[in-house]
Amino acid sequence: MPENQKKILIVEDEPSLIFTLRDTLESEGYDVNVVSTGKEALEQVKENKPDLMLLDLMLPGMSGYEICEKIRSMKYTFPIIMLTARDQEVDKVEGLNIGADDYITKPFGVKELLARIKARLRRASSWSKSGPLESLKLGDVKIDLAEGEVSKPDGKTHDLSTREVEMIHYLVERANQPISRDELLEKVWRYEYSTNTRTVDVHVSKLRAKIEMHPDDPRHLVTLHGVGYMLKVN
Ligand code: CA
Repeated sequence: MPENQKKILIVEDEPSLIFTLRDTLESEGYDVNVVSTGKEALEQVKENKPDLMLLDLMLPGMSGYEICEKIRSMKYTFPIIMLTARDQEVDKVEGLNIGADDYITKPFGVKELLARIKARLRRASSWSKSGPLESLKLGDVKIDLAEGEVSKPDGKTHDLSTREVEMIHYLVERANQPISRDELLEKVWRYEYSTNTRTVDVHVSKLRAKIEMHPDDPRHLVTLHGVGYMLKVN
């Protein structure tokens, strides 16, 4: 396998669509793997980390939502594009909320699908890798999540608390998307006793001091007035 060949895992149970997807993606040079159930999908993710997943919503047994949620709870950050049927508008929103990066409505054109895949892979490769995230760079600041340490180009280092590491994992999962304080409270603090949105603000400003070169003028962990926060990457 060429070193830069990207691995795409297709989770789909419709034979004709599997055939088309495999054929199209292989002819584009991707290394394609196909499974039809959630159980197989999770096994594949662990054994053969994909760079991107195409995930059908309606599957026998475990649904696309459940699969997506499980993968994100395992801290895998590779892009997930959901395949939904035309009448599942509402479901798309839920899909994005639980950690899918994009969705595409069936029936879709091959060109559109390839464009979405390329865009997601390009974005992912510039700041992340497909396994559980161990480190990342925000500008010149290196964040080692496995060690819980931040290194700045001026030689300064900061230790990250477990909670901060957890926050970064969540922010990275939802990179370039608005995140509300309530969402952070729910996902990172899980509504622990005596926490409120003020807790989130305090932690964000502490985290900024560690990961931003100019915490008063943040470039990455930005405030969206009236909305919440966003981790901007590239
Ligand atoms: Ca299906």
